[in-house]
Amino acid sequence: MIFEEKPVIIAGPCAVESREQIMRIAGQLSEHKIKYLRGGAFKPRTSPDSFQGLGLEGLRYMREAADNFEMKVVSEILDSASIDAAYDFIDIIQIGSRNMASYGLIKEIGKKTARDGKPVMLKRGFNATITEYLLAAEYIIRAGNENVILCLRGIRTFEQIDSMLRFTPDLSAIIELKRNTKFTVIFDPSHSTGNREYVPDIAKAALFMGADGLLIETHDKPEEALSDEDQAIHPGALKEIIDFIKK
Ligand code: PEP
Ligand code: MN
Repeated sequence: MIFEEKPVIIAGPCAVESREQIMRIAGQLSEHKIKYLRGGAFKPRTSPDSFQGLGLEGLRYMREAADNFEMKVVSEILDSASIDAAYDFIDIIQIGSRNMASYGLIKEIGKKTARDGKPVMLKRGFNATITEYLLAAEYIIRAGNENVILCLRGIRTFEQIDSMLRFTPDLSAIIELKRNTKFTVIFDPSHSTGNREYVPDIAKAALFMGADGLLIETHDKPEEALSDEDQAIHPGALKEIIDFIKK
């Protein structure tokens, strides 16, 4: 078991924006007993004009905030060049949707984490089939690390032509993966909808489908977030989801 509690909540901003920002958010999350702090330091942005993250400086701030509140750090490693420098700051390494099929990177991450079994959270490519997704996970396992966590984050379908959602939440994949594999399956209601109005309901639906946990983007000033501002919710808004879990 990679997580002690089920369901687990991993929360935090899309991107670490400053030392104060991540410290404030970590404090608010720990009031809700959240133990896993997420935040991007290396951001895979569609546009080169968008905020790219603070890099290693961001990871240092996140490590400090997490240690201060006894939380674990979940963060993405974007490329091979930053693996060594980023490694010790992160407790769970995220591989982003756009890198699911970067086989060189995932093999290297698999090899590096084989030494200590550090968990790798592999997000589903938004255009990947389930088979392609499971084969990507297999690359990490074959490199020597069995601690692979799957994270569903929405897929691209024809719904995006006229729906309000950024992606289509691949909720049925939770059932399929839980039935047919032994992986821990996390669902991300933030990227899969891209719209904070939908986040609580999709989060509850994912839990109902049997997800082992949720990855939720939270920001203390959601509308002012430097990235993914339409989907961020305030840490206080997690209460509704936590109350649902208790019920
Ligand atoms: C993220 O978690 O902030 C992220 C960029 O997610 P994805 O790779 O799923 O788009
Ligand atoms: Mn994001």
